[in-house]
Amino acid sequence: MAKPKVYFGSFNHGRIAREFSMSVKFDEILNQLDFSTIKKKDKVAIKMHLGFKDGFQTVPVFFIRRLVQKVKETGAFPFITDNPTAVYNAVDRGYTAETCGCPIIPIAGLKDNYKHRVEVNYKTVDFLDMAGVMKDSDVLIDVSHVKGHGTAGFGGAFKNIALGGYCGTSRWRKIHGVEKSAPYWDADKCSPEHGKKLVESCPYKAMKYDSEKHHLDLGFGNCHNGNCLECLKVDEGVGCLSIPKEGFAHFQELMAITSKKILECYDDDKKFFLNFIMDVTPHCDCLGMVQPQVVPDIGIVGGRDIVAVEEASLDLVKRARFLKDQLPPYLKHVSDDEALHPFQRIWGPYKDPYLVNEYGEKLGLGARDYELVEILPASETKDLEPGKHSFEDQATFF
Ligand code: SF4
Repeated sequence: MAKPKVYFGSFNHGRIAREFSMSVKFDEILNQLDFSTIKKKDKVAIKMHLGFKDGFQTVPVFFIRRLVQKVKETGAFPFITDNPTAVYNAVDRGYTAETCGCPIIPIAGLKDNYKHRVEVNYKTVDFLDMAGVMKDSDVLIDVSHVKGHGTAGFGGAFKNIALGGYCGTSRWRKIHGVEKSAPYWDADKCSPEHGKKLVESCPYKAMKYDSEKHHLDLGFGNCHNGNCLECLKVDEGVGCLSIPKEGFAHFQELMAITSKKILECYDDDKKFFLNFIMDVTPHCDCLGMVQPQVVPDIGIVGGRDIVAVEEASLDLVKRARFLKDQLPPYLKHVSDDEALHPFQRIWGPYKDPYLVNEYGEKLGLGARDYELVEILPASETKDLEPGKHSFEDQATFF
C-alpha cells in the first residue's frame, strides 16, 4: 500500500520572492490536500485551539483566513470551533468572524453542555461527552499548533480533537484522570509524616497529600518522571511510591481512542489535518501566557492521515536545533540526552510523544510510515528566477 503523503512547507525560502515564501507554500499545501471531496453546502468544522487569556502563540489568523477562503471556494460553509471560553475571548487574540472570514462557534454550545455521549470503557473511563458540533458537522479540518504538553509531552492533531473535541467535564475529570488508573502509592506503607516529606521533595509541586483522607495525589501532568525522580530518593527505605510509566501511556492510549470516536463521525474523504510547527513552546496553549520556543520555527505540514501528519511533525521537531539555553529556569531537569525527543528532554522520558501515534496506528487511524513531500524547498527555489519583485514604495491602493 502506498505510504500516506505529508505535504511540508518550510519557513526557509531560497530567494526573496513572494512566490517562494511560506504563504504561497501554504496555499499549495491546501491545493495538495484536495478539497474537491468537500461538497457544496457541507458544514465544515475547522477545529482549532484558540488559546487562552494572554497567550498569542496560536495558529496565526493570517493562515486561517486563507484556509477559510479556500474552503468557501467549494461552496461549503466553514466555521471555526473550540471550547466556549476560548471562543468568547478569541477576539483578544485576533480571531473574529471578520478577520477569519467565517463564524466562530462554541463546540459544545454556550454552556458546554451540547453533547453526544459515547461509550469508551477504557480503564477508569466508562463514557465521555463528545462535543455536539463534532457530531453535527460534515467535514473536519483539524488545525493544530504543535507544542509541548505536560501530560502527553506533545500536543498536535490528536490532542486538538482527543481533548478539545469533548465537553469540559469529560476533558478534565475523565480524560486527564485516566493517568491515575496506574497504581503509584501504597497507603499502608506511608505515614502522614512521610506523605508530607514526599510532597516537599517535589520541585514541581506535582504531589498533594490530604492528611484527613490519608491520600497522596500525583499530578502526572507536572511530573518530570525519569529526568527527576527526587521523590524516590526520599522514599528509599519506605518504598510506598512509584512513578509508573503506564500512567503516562494510559493517557496517550485514551487520546487515540477518543480521537477515533471523533474521526468515526466523518467519511474518510472528509478529514484533513494541518499542523503548524511554529512558536513551539514547552507547555500547552491553555496556559494562556507567552512562552519561549523549544526549537526554531520549522513550517507547516498537512495531510489526510492523522498518524502520518503527527509522526512527520514529531520527526521535524526532533531534527531541529533544541534551544535548551532559552528554556525557563523553573524547568530544572531538562535532559542532555540527545537520543530523547526534545519533548522528552523537557517532560521526561516516560512522556514519549510518539506513543499516541503507535496507539493510533494500532486502532487503524493511519500509518506512521509516511512520505514527506516538501513544497518549494529552498534548495530548489534558490536557483529559480523569481518574478518581478513588488513592494510598497508608495501607497498602491489609489
Ligand atoms: S519524579 Fe520529580 S516531578 Fe515527579 S513527582 Fe517525583 S519529584 Fe515530583
